[in-house]
Amino acid sequence: MSVETYRHYIDGAWTDPASGQWFDTINPYTDEPWAKIAQGNNQDVDKAVAAAKSAYDTVWSVMHPTQRGKLLVKLAELIERDAAHLGEVEVRDNGKLIAEMGAQTKYMAEWYRYYGGLADKIEGSVIPSDKPGVFNFTRYEPLGVVGMITPWNSPLLLLAWKLPAALAAGNTVVVKPSEFTSASTLEFMKLIEEAGFPNGVVNVVTGYGLDTGAPLVEHVDVAKIAFTGSDMSGQKIYEAAARQIKPVSLELGGKSPNIVFEDADIDAAVMGAISGIFAATGQTCIAGSRLLLQRSIHDAFVAKLIEVAKAAKIGDPMSTETHVGPVTTPPQYQKILDYIDIAKQDGATCILGGKPYTGPEAKGSQFVEPTIFVDVNNKMRIAQEEVFGPILAVIPFDTEEDAIAIGNDVDFGLAAGVWTSDIGRALRMSEKLKVGTVWVNTYRAVSYTSPFGGYKRSGIGRESGAEAIKQFMQVKSVWIAQETSVTNPFILR
Ligand code: NAD
Repeated sequence: MSVETYRHYIDGAWTDPASGQWFDTINPYTDEPWAKIAQGNNQDVDKAVAAAKSAYDTVWSVMHPTQRGKLLVKLAELIERDAAHLGEVEVRDNGKLIAEMGAQTKYMAEWYRYYGGLADKIEGSVIPSDKPGVFNFTRYEPLGVVGMITPWNSPLLLLAWKLPAALAAGNTVVVKPSEFTSASTLEFMKLIEEAGFPNGVVNVVTGYGLDTGAPLVEHVDVAKIAFTGSDMSGQKIYEAAARQIKPVSLELGGKSPNIVFEDADIDAAVMGAISGIFAATGQTCIAGSRLLLQRSIHDAFVAKLIEVAKAAKIGDPMSTETHVGPVTTPPQYQKILDYIDIAKQDGATCILGGKPYTGPEAKGSQFVEPTIFVDVNNKMRIAQEEVFGPILAVIPFDTEEDAIAIGNDVDFGLAAGVWTSDIGRALRMSEKLKVGTVWVNTYRAVSYTSPFGGYKRSGIGRESGAEAIKQFMQVKSVWIAQETSVTNPFILR
């Protein structure tokens, strides 16, 4: 198989790395390198930020928002046209299922269309000032150059949650994708080019977190960092940004409770539990990795869950028949196996899986069987720490109050599922759970129309929905005296 080469995309040009070095990107299903990626450093970052700053000053921030919106809508059309290709590149790079990625890349176009439409609808307001003879109004302005850092699990979708909002607001952008999955973001730049975005408006520098991500965060001409990734990296980025009083938005990890009450539609809840933890091989920030079951239904529910999980087809992510694909990266694979050992040592009982999958479809070496632990108490590490793999911790509860207490007793607060037929309970639970998203009788639903983000250690800020565009803007208050008056200059007016 021929190996492709992906250069940085800086100022509208495919650019070799200053270091002259490249690294491989690996197909996690075959374990084979399939492309070479430019290994960036601070020189590449400087170049990209300079291009973005120049494009901001001379073209993008002064372009009428209607024109910016039209480019985003055009880009949405190109995404729809090439969705199948983009989906295939993602699968080759991160091993997620084509059944999911094909639909996901197509749906991603909606974020570009939505913010394209919103671009010219951001209005300031006239303030009813209490000061006589003063006209006071507000205007929303872009921030400047925004740095975006993305993880490996859904590079293009997670970029879509940031990029169109930032561009519609008038910012220019430098993207640093994950070193494990850079290819799809660079493929996507071909569409940015074709849509006709001016040079320098969107740039991509690839490389490792410390060599490329950190210089982007620390660059004095970068006005904001929008980050998606682990809480540990998010913390480091927050600390580095704080040294320059630089705003950040952080979309971090989770340990989401999926809570099933005895009055729920049990078959639907079983499917919701499966979708919460085994979809995407558990490699999603919103994984419902803690399944809280009301004690009266615990045993029957677990029996049904095992039946469905056992039937999951493990194998080639490019096959539409496959349900569970490989783990994306070698360190992540090792981390999942380590957590299986930790759970066992802490006293949890493994009732399904618990080991690498080595069947004939496991071409590469990175498959883990769908795994279910019972006898888990919420203090165990398997209930407190994000694994990011197909490992489910089942925890019993007695009352609604217990469910809320256990559900909230973690550092994270990204999402929660609630399964019940009682509308009053659904409303009470959605109020009491300290998470950014609550799904009632469904799980793993996201949309360009609805804000997404974390409480507590799951992050800062929101993406998607109309309000999210303001996270890439700042508001200015303008005061105009309608008549000059001589007042005492030594006191506050
Ligand atoms: P990661 O934190 O290891 O890496 C994410 C990105 O940050 C990569 O591009 C990496 O190169 C870069 N990076 C790492 N250290 C850096 C530093 N010091 N300075 C600047 N950049 C740095 O995360 P990952 O393993 O790629 O992704 C998995 C994590 O992402 C999980 O914790 C998951 O929950 C989280 N995630 C969150 C969301 C969300 O929307 N909340 C969505 C998807 C994934």
